[in-house]
Amino acid sequence: MDSDLRIALEKQREEIELAKSLARDLDLSLKLQAEEVVIDSRRPHTSSPTECSPEDLESVFSVSADGFDYSDMLLKDIDVALQTQLLCEQEVAKLNDDLDYSSEKFKLFAKGLLSTEMVKEMEMLLGGVGVAIYDSNDTLMREEKNVLVVEDFTTPQVAELTALIQGLKLALEFGMRHVTFYCDSDEALGYVIGKVEESNHSAVASLVNEVALLRSRFSFFEARHVRSVDISSVVQLARAAITSQIKWHEDGIFKEACTLCYNDVPSDEQFELPSCFHRFCVSCVNGTVKNALEQKKPVKCQRLDCESEIPRESCAAILEPELLDLMIKPEEENLIPYSERVFCPR
Ligand SMILES: [Zn+2]
Ligand SMILES: [Zn+2]
Repeated sequence: MDSDLRIALEKQREEIELAKSLARDLDLSLKLQAEEVVIDSRRPHTSSPTECSPEDLESVFSVSADGFDYSDMLLKDIDVALQTQLLCEQEVAKLNDDLDYSSEKFKLFAKGLLSTEMVKEMEMLLGGVGVAIYDSNDTLMREEKNVLVVEDFTTPQVAELTALIQGLKLALEFGMRHVTFYCDSDEALGYVIGKVEESNHSAVASLVNEVALLRSRFSFFEARHVRSVDISSVVQLARAAITSQIKWHEDGIFKEACTLCYNDVPSDEQFELPSCFHRFCVSCVNGTVKNALEQKKPVKCQRLDCESEIPRESCAAILEPELLDLMIKPEEENLIPYSERVFCPR
């Protein structure tokens, strides 16, 4: 998207928020003034002001109940405030109309993840959802990450469908009506496009129904398969939602358990792999790199369910110096053309 247009859109959004906040302030101010009116009207009859009931507040604004002895001045103030509030609401409605997304095309990335994690010394199955919406120029429009509460019926498909539902709701909330959904789960995609028969799993069946209902509110919806790496932004959000559940506060800092050695480590010292966002302590990452180099194998994530490779440069900052040398050498060697390499004559 053109940067000027993006700046203009951002400014409009800020104006809407400001207008909404003004409207909220006015609403509060009106309620406070109304409370004063009610309390004033009671003064001759009560020894101390009491709290107003909602009915009392309602009656101040109603045409029929007019038995109070409040001043003209206050009525005028309320009238001015009401007029201003009306203007604010009209302004908000106008700005919302200006941000008309109904005819634009959007890309919806959604990821629902389940992951077995160590929380203190307990192994737990935790869930997280990541959702992101981009416009046709790949500008991020909206994103959110949410904890997924894991129940007995929560399967990976339930997590994926829940993520899609949250994404569709987010798109609808902002008036988006033309959406392409990108998904890296074959099974979830199968349910969405109707290729996979709805299982007897009641949770999946009801989620598939909910997806169908939400889809019907879009003028265009299609679902496409992508590789996980292509939607890594939402994989990261979903993992962040999971990570938020494994931390605990102790001695003034957040800690979490390393899933390899089970040691408790400060959260900000954990190393997060850039490809899969799994987290390990620095000493485990060093051990993993050392083993891989000794066996002349690629350096891979050590989670059982993960095959992600660890790019050499990504862990340079935390490696012991001698390991870093060993990791970098083969790459440098490859940069020299074979014909120009000098080999040991022995
Ligand atoms: Zn560790
Ligand atoms: Zn991993």
